Amino acid sequence: MKGLTKHSDTEWRIEPTGAMRVPVVIFASEALIRDIDDKVIEQAINVAGLPGIVGAAYAMPDAHWGYGFPIGGVGAFDADAGGIVSGGGVGFDICCGVRTLHTGLDRAAVLAVQKELADALYYSVPVGVGSTGAIRLDHKGMDAMLEGGAAWAVGEGYGRPEDLARIEEQGRMAGADPSQVSDQAKQRQQQEMGTLGSGNHYLEVQAVTEIYDAQIAAAFGLRIDDAMVSIHCGSRGLGHQIGTEYLKRMAVAAPKHGINLPDRELACAPIKSQLGQAYLGAMRAGINCALANRQIITHLARRVFDEFFGTDLELLYDVSHNTCKLEEHVVDGRRRQLYVHRKGATRAFGPGHPDLPPDLRRVGQPVLIGGTMGTASYILVGTEQGMQLAFGSACHGAGRALSRHAATRRWHGRAVQDELASRGIVVRSPSARGLAEEAPGAYKDVSEVVLVAERAGLARRVARLEPLLCIKG
Ligand code: 5GP
Ligand code: MN
Ligand code: MN
Repeated sequence: MKGLTKHSDTEWRIEPTGAMRVPVVIFASEALIRDIDDKVIEQAINVAGLPGIVGAAYAMPDAHWGYGFPIGGVGAFDADAGGIVSGGGVGFDICCGVRTLHTGLDRAAVLAVQKELADALYYSVPVGVGSTGAIRLDHKGMDAMLEGGAAWAVGEGYGRPEDLARIEEQGRMAGADPSQVSDQAKQRQQQEMGTLGSGNHYLEVQAVTEIYDAQIAAAFGLRIDDAMVSIHCGSRGLGHQIGTEYLKRMAVAAPKHGINLPDRELACAPIKSQLGQAYLGAMRAGINCALANRQIITHLARRVFDEFFGTDLELLYDVSHNTCKLEEHVVDGRRRQLYVHRKGATRAFGPGHPDLPPDLRRVGQPVLIGGTMGTASYILVGTEQGMQLAFGSACHGAGRALSRHAATRRWHGRAVQDELASRGIVVRSPSARGLAEEAPGAYKDVSEVVLVAERAGLARRVARLEPLLCIKG
């Protein structure tokens, strides 16, 4: 790719030319950069030209092509410098994220009831397109949920107050404005609370198979052979509807705001504009919806574990990877308030950060990385260096190597399921097509991705997890 220069073994740059206001920085190895979609680079260049961007437009090692911004993209904007907020920079599944919980069990205990446990989780947690949950929210209840997030869910009896300390924003995103969320978005969510969604979303029981940093693993409570539960889902129909509606509004209003869009998908609005503020209010409500959703699903999983083992699930941490958040960062020695977009990128705050729970502040934030249902997932920890590199951000997964469409041409869902079963991984899903789209081979090598994240200094590996059973949407 023209203009792409190697800065180090894990960092590639494009210096600003034309409409670019800042450089593009891509964290990747030789192998990852060789296979990177040219569109990712094109998209990052476009992001680098948006008003008020600070530092650089970043692409994480798992980056792949997305709507407007690449997935695995990070961009920070200064409101005082005309900075913008962009729906495409957050993503349609607002606050999609992962939480990982301790089961207090070891791998053998899970394997003894592996199939039965998979079936019980599959029937207890609504999954798939159009699935509905048991909770119905009236107008007042919906607004309370959108303002309260996981804290609301705990108040409704889903989980415990201790859970909240282990969730970003203590489980409740401040500044949510339910009045900026359309009736249609709320309607779409009415029956979807506590549902996993489709495709890439999952509830997985995993075993810890490797520890890279004994001290931090101990602080996170991780030991070899521990069985863990990971839940990956987002804000369901509500988030998608917010994304769709504001994208249109932002595209229409762009000329009025004096914003020249190189790509309609980059639609954005100045943070200080009425529309920018409306989006932020709605998007934060979307964040709360996703936090509440993961909290309710946790409750459903807890019931199953209680029934099977008489044990509880203890939350290690909950990270979001589709957000825009106002954060303080030091740029060129100066503290600045920045609106950091992380789309398919995980917040990865280093040790000492005041936003971390007191008992983890010393070590840094757990960074939860999904891999695939057939390979591995990882737990990393945020670093001080990462705070300087990309505003305390890291990758969020393996990242797709093949489009969903290409994957369905190459694999058959039930054959994927059988192959995994022959390797001892039990998968339950309502959708054969979804399983083909999500075939492990459709993703990049997650081990390579996290190694690059570590070598680049974004975050450090703590533990590797391997799947025992996976409930797929
Ligand atoms: P996304 O949020 O971009 O849809 O997905 C995040 C990451 O989750 C993907 O990049 C992929 O690496 C990972 N992932 C997708 N499906 C599964 C799964 O079934 N199990 C695990 N452990 N990870 C998955
Ligand atoms: Mn996600
Ligand atoms: Mn999602």
